[in-house]
Amino acid sequence: MNTDDQDDVGIVFRKTLGHYTVHTLISGREIDCVLSSLLHKQLIFPTADPTSLRHTVQEVREIDHVDPVAIGDRVRYVNAGEGRGMITEILPRSSKLSRPAPVPGQRVFEQVIVSNADLIMPVFSAANPTPKWGLLDRYLVSAEAAELPSLIVINKLDLAWKNPQLDEDIEIYRRIGYPILLVSAITGEGIEELKDALQGKLSVMIGKSGVGKTSLLNAIQPGLGLRIKAVSNGEIGKGRHTTTHLEMFELDFGGTLVDTPGMREFGLWNIASDELAYLFPEMADYVGQCKFGLSCRHDQEPGCAIRKAVIAGNISPYRYQSYMRLREEL
Ligand code: GDP
Ligand code: ZN
Repeated sequence: MNTDDQDDVGIVFRKTLGHYTVHTLISGREIDCVLSSLLHKQLIFPTADPTSLRHTVQEVREIDHVDPVAIGDRVRYVNAGEGRGMITEILPRSSKLSRPAPVPGQRVFEQVIVSNADLIMPVFSAANPTPKWGLLDRYLVSAEAAELPSLIVINKLDLAWKNPQLDEDIEIYRRIGYPILLVSAITGEGIEELKDALQGKLSVMIGKSGVGKTSLLNAIQPGLGLRIKAVSNGEIGKGRHTTTHLEMFELDFGGTLVDTPGMREFGLWNIASDELAYLFPEMADYVGQCKFGLSCRHDQEPGCAIRKAVIAGNISPYRYQSYMRLREEL
């Protein structure tokens, strides 16, 4: 491909209200961009003949509530010189992590938090605080819905002696097939493996404060944790809504990383209740085998294949409880 064609393409690393920091793909420069007015609008095409080559715009709607650009987006921009530019186009996304953004008095809109991610990295600690596995299940379902692989990281391995249940608990996830890394930011155990797992990818770190995310980031790259903490504490982009000052960081060994500060979950966006069992990989194979087929809610129905699998020990009762809890929300 002609490099000239690409010199107007970059990746969104940071956004603060109305401004986007774009790293150019070829030269790696930082451009401070605003959005073209067209991107604030949603173009509505006629639905009658979607294959028509004449994409006549039927209607133009203003989008003023949800930012159309997300961290990780590849964008085309026009260079205005002196490190400034204007984003004119968002290139197709390979993945997106979204959450529902309720707008008072209106319907709920989709808010894309990170696009083009390659890996979701839920972080928990062996102890102090002890893991809440229901929260992990929520993260894993969000990752499955986005069709992204997860890497479960359990930090504070040096405190594992405080949690006699830990081995048994993580075995549940290993059996399902989720990769798990046990690490300690303090002793350095597992840190090299973690770096290997992140290398060359856009990874999204998610976890409650206190599990040692800042310490872990400092362990993989000196100074990184503190920079990210400054972002999540609002020292950068002060006083704004959490998701408006998300920032993506370059890893010096290759790859990029986004922390998701203050976000309990990505929300379960656009997941239908009868889809949920497919997002639990160990349940997916049983869907459709119930007596009531696809209409089974896997609750109290007779002949439910999923409940039978729980009783037979092929599905963890804890994961099944998570399934039932999440299902209530949908
Ligand atoms: P964050 O809120 O997730 O960014 O967590 P911090 O990195 O600020 O760590 C929270 C607390 O856990 C601090 O007191 C850290 O010293 C401690 N901590 C972090 N990693 C480890 C670890 O691997 N082992 C132990 N024992 N403590 C840790
Ligand atoms: Zn069933």
